[in-house]
Amino acid sequence: MVTIQVINLANENDIVLSDKDIFIEVALPVPMRQTFTYRADPLLVDAQIVIGARVLVPFANRQLIGVVITTHQQAGLATDKIKSIIDVLPSQGNFTELQVQFLQRVSQYYHHPVGEVIASALPTLLRQVEPVDIEPTPCWSKHSQLTVAEFEQCKAQISANAHQQLALLDYFADQKQLTWPEIRMAGFNKTQLNALVNKGLLEQGQVTEQRYQFQSGQVQQANKPRLSLEQSLVISAIGSQLQSFSCHLIDGVTGSGKTEVYLQLIEKVLEQNKQVLVLVPEIGLTPQTLGRFEKRFAVPVALHHSALSDKERLQTWLQSKSGRAAIVIATRSGVFTPMLNPGLIVIDEEHDGSFKQQEGFRYHARDIAVLRARQLNIPIVLGSATPALETLHNANAKKYQYHQLTKRAGNSQFADVELIDMSKDVIEFGLSSRLKLAIEQTLAKDEQVLLFLNRRGFAPAISCQECHWICHCQRCDKPYTLHQNQGLLMCHHCGSQKRIVKQCQQCGSIRLKTLGQGTEQLEQRLNELFPNYSSVRIDRDSTRKKGELARLLQQVNNNEHHILVGTQMLAKGHHFANVTLVAVLDVDGALFSYDFRAPEHMAQLLVQVAGRAGRESKKGKVYVQTHYPDHPLLQDLVNNGYGHFAQFALTERQQALMPPYTFQALFRAQANKPQLPQSLLRDVAQHAGSECMVSGPIPPPMEKKAGKYRYHLLLQSAQRKTLHQAVQQIIEQIEQHPNKNKVRWSVDIDPQELTW
Ligand code: ADP
Ligand code: ZN
Ligand code: ZN
Repeated sequence: MVTIQVINLANENDIVLSDKDIFIEVALPVPMRQTFTYRADPLLVDAQIVIGARVLVPFANRQLIGVVITTHQQAGLATDKIKSIIDVLPSQGNFTELQVQFLQRVSQYYHHPVGEVIASALPTLLRQVEPVDIEPTPCWSKHSQLTVAEFEQCKAQISANAHQQLALLDYFADQKQLTWPEIRMAGFNKTQLNALVNKGLLEQGQVTEQRYQFQSGQVQQANKPRLSLEQSLVISAIGSQLQSFSCHLIDGVTGSGKTEVYLQLIEKVLEQNKQVLVLVPEIGLTPQTLGRFEKRFAVPVALHHSALSDKERLQTWLQSKSGRAAIVIATRSGVFTPMLNPGLIVIDEEHDGSFKQQEGFRYHARDIAVLRARQLNIPIVLGSATPALETLHNANAKKYQYHQLTKRAGNSQFADVELIDMSKDVIEFGLSSRLKLAIEQTLAKDEQVLLFLNRRGFAPAISCQECHWICHCQRCDKPYTLHQNQGLLMCHHCGSQKRIVKQCQQCGSIRLKTLGQGTEQLEQRLNELFPNYSSVRIDRDSTRKKGELARLLQQVNNNEHHILVGTQMLAKGHHFANVTLVAVLDVDGALFSYDFRAPEHMAQLLVQVAGRAGRESKKGKVYVQTHYPDHPLLQDLVNNGYGHFAQFALTERQQALMPPYTFQALFRAQANKPQLPQSLLRDVAQHAGSECMVSGPIPPPMEKKAGKYRYHLLLQSAQRKTLHQAVQQIIEQIEQHPNKNKVRWSVDIDPQELTW
């Protein structure tokens, strides 16, 4: 019967649709918790409109790209109201049915509109209504027309000083085709590439989109270290379980060779012609991290991170989906990258806060990755020197297999950590005399010093010496940070800025002073204190220009600077061979915070910072300055290490009925007037149900931001199911609330930040 209908329709005009049309449910990138029904020609439904296909549809007064969720024969609505789709888009951009299912599950878990969830899994260019060329990726190879003799002749004309050009040419020796991200990842630039193309040695072509096939010789055996016993044990334990889902935590101290473990596991997966997805925190995407993959594997590697163009990210997506890319290295949003033949997911620095998206669709890439591995029935490896308490809890509960690397690889030794009591020492520019002496001694030995201060700018406030007025941002009610180099006052909460004020706006006095110290000031003071040594500052301000971070890190590794000053940017993943002294100048903020996760984050940061000291054979020293050296948390961390601290912290969380022993969801609401979000949240709160604990509505510590007043409603339950039911109830109530359009609100499942 159905076939006859199809034939009838095909014989008619295919634009005029009849009652026999098929209806499709489409997920659209709009903030509405529903899918939308459209009509489609049954012929198209057979041929192209499959689940996961992208379609162009009319929506209100515009056109949108959506993804097909289901097809059905009957419409829920009166059929004359249902519009027809405009077009079906090329199938290279389709999701598979399995991926659609997965994204729907994610949408349910996070209570986020399915259309927006699906949109966040699509590259920007595939979401745009303007057609995009899904053309094969450009790539370069040795010029095919040249004979060996001609090639050598051309090569001989390259100046011996053009080391990089020669190195790039050598790099092509055992590679057939290289894409631009692969070339860049190997440390070369466009100028060098173009020079070789202009000399006729290389030619541009298009990547042949075949599936990745493992060939022996793609793994560099030469630079493989001899594994430690611990490393071998972990590799064989995980390596014997590569055929199905299992989740592993590698808890390995900094420098214990976790990356080497990943590399050897990845090798086993590649040998099976399967693909690997590696997730890293944004900051880890330094040439150092990428370089290690590149040195080991001569296979197609695709990258996904924020510094790439939309086009490059689209190419990564397509290459991974078509199976050409063997390894995809990605930051947070790359967790959705489709893979033809997935074999393993690795999450490096799994505790890192950057895996949690803090706005819009608030997901945690680590949690999604575990869900995804389970659905794909492949193993997942989480690695960290300072695992998140959630992850340790799952390991304690035997949901994740626990593996430990307790020793540093090679010759490097652990740094000693020592607390400095700031109330018992002379402090100059935030430096205790004890620390100053240690800096002098380290510099005298020609070794480097890293000073860690998590505060950008020159000073966190300016104030009047006469009346104690503080210059603050009126949109946030918080002090402006002084940025002397740029001649600006900046609000670190809303980003507003203004010129430096010269006069008190309350009493008119011109006697203004700065309060506290930021990295900019510290750098200046260090130059005064140690005029014979070069200081360099590495924070968001000093590395804003593209490529600047890599340049500064290179200078540090060339020993052009002796003292490094930085924010938490410097704490993660970097490898500084000659840094032997690390100091944390001010650790106290985290000890007395509103956020119950602050001590955990502080401990992670301290351990990561300390991990920068003495990475090679020289022994390192770490100083931590505090006014509270007897604080039990600091004492536990310093004397017993992170593992002990973490188990202790878990016990505390269990006693206080906090996550990971309970589950939380946070509703945030904001508006121009404080009454609006407060009353909206109060009205809906009573619908949470009796089994779910509700706190609020209360204003967060940062009550006003960018001119908006904010309120929180926190739900908590020992059962996920109870929590999710309550969240669902409250969302339904908000959507019916008379003031819902006057209030901006969001829901955050498993919130990481309760302070804003
Ligand atoms: P992590 O990721 O745990 O911080 P890495 O994998 O970066 O540690 O290893 C730290 C250093 O030790 C790197 O320079 C790495 O090349 C080296 N390394 C790793 N495994 C070994 C080994 N078995 N023997 C010698 N050196 C090793
Ligand atoms: Zn004043
Ligand atoms: Zn502000």
